Amino acid sequence: MAQFRIKLIAPDNTERELLYDNQTSSLTWGADGFGSPVLEVNPNTFQDATVVSTTQPGRKGLIKTLKISLGLSCNYECNYCSQRFVPHAESTNPEDVENFLQQLIASLSQAPERIEFWGGEPLVYIKTLKPLAERLRVLYPDAEFLIITNGSLLSLETNEWLDRMGFVVGLSHDGPGHHARGADPLDDPQQRAAIMDLYARLQPQGRISINAMISSQNSSRAAVQIWLQERFDADVQIGEGAFIDPYDEGGLAATFKTTAEHAQFRRQGFGEIRTGLASRFDLTNQKIQDFIDSIRYQRPASALGQKCGMDRSNNLAVDLKGNVVTCQNVSAAAFAPNGQSHLIGHLSDLPAVRMKSATHWSQRQGCSSCPVLQMCKGSCMFLEGPLWDAGCAAAYSDNLVFFAAAIEFLTGCMPVFIDGDLPPERKDIFGLAKSTVESPPVRRVIPILAAQQTA
Ligand code: SF4
Ligand code: SF4
Repeated sequence: MAQFRIKLIAPDNTERELLYDNQTSSLTWGADGFGSPVLEVNPNTFQDATVVSTTQPGRKGLIKTLKISLGLSCNYECNYCSQRFVPHAESTNPEDVENFLQQLIASLSQAPERIEFWGGEPLVYIKTLKPLAERLRVLYPDAEFLIITNGSLLSLETNEWLDRMGFVVGLSHDGPGHHARGADPLDDPQQRAAIMDLYARLQPQGRISINAMISSQNSSRAAVQIWLQERFDADVQIGEGAFIDPYDEGGLAATFKTTAEHAQFRRQGFGEIRTGLASRFDLTNQKIQDFIDSIRYQRPASALGQKCGMDRSNNLAVDLKGNVVTCQNVSAAAFAPNGQSHLIGHLSDLPAVRMKSATHWSQRQGCSSCPVLQMCKGSCMFLEGPLWDAGCAAAYSDNLVFFAAAIEFLTGCMPVFIDGDLPPERKDIFGLAKSTVESPPVRRVIPILAAQQTA
């Protein structure tokens, strides 16, 4: 049974209607289309996701992605950072590497496919990072290595090493909104030279992305894209790219507060996708494709885990003391808002890991009846209270932009209203029901992805 009736404006300005069920991923035309499916479906078989909560603790098993937290120290102070007020665990150093590796070898029954090295700023820990990554490269020659860095501590020597070790690098930079992170390394001639050297080394192999975050202070993906294209090149690949989750007052201050602000953000985001001005954001195409796939393969909501994947048994976050933690953004000394420790076990005894710090979306009020569930997959799995509420509101508007773009791509019609069990401000996609709108999106008939391909 459809949960949502979606009102569309067709290219000839007539109204049409879609019926959408977020639980079964059924998308059909309304009465005017005789209930026919929008897309030819090719149902797949899906496994139910594991529902993690305090009463159903998450476990860890065959590890495919290993996230190693080197420590939370950073030389920047991003005002929305998820780690800002996380108590730091006991610091780690090069002497911890050998013991950590022995525990790792003993506990992993197969080579991880991907190993991520996390800070804080991981290059603060270069003296530990180097021996660690070199030993891991010998142990797991086929594993993909990933590092996220703010780039300020790069040098030609470090770049050569990152290249030789086969790293994929995510360089954090918010383009015109970078001031929220602190000083811009691109303003420093030496740091800029090192960043550009790394970019020139890795970009031709597709091994570097510039990772930008969207917030109320940096809300335009088009502005970020243009800024980064001017500094790097037209082919710049932009990673991350989602609206921030608020983890504290600083994060809250970077979210939208009013219905009008949310509507304006949705109009702007939708318009930017339509015109191809956000096309360098990996997220844009991933989100749209993910929604199309959910319809095509009829993905049930029961198959959806959390958006970050850290509820899955095969994703493991661990520090160099062997402490298993909820995710790479917290420490063994920190507690989740639900009062449960982020320290969920130890590498030496993976079968005993129990994650009680997270709440699966199905245990949240509102997610099951949310039209963007298939794209959002719940906000941060450990947030609670006002931070959760603000994160959910931000995630709704952000995902609604991609939802609307995907619907337009599939149908050629612009969705404007979602009727269902929703608060009013979530029904009116672009705030068009109000007469105060100054610049509604200009309707274009050409489906957006096709428009990009022919651009
Ligand atoms: S937008 Fe909010 S309610 Fe909807 S799926 Fe995401 S977290 Fe849940
Ligand atoms: S639980 Fe997931 S969404 Fe939340 S901070 Fe950790 S990685 Fe990010």
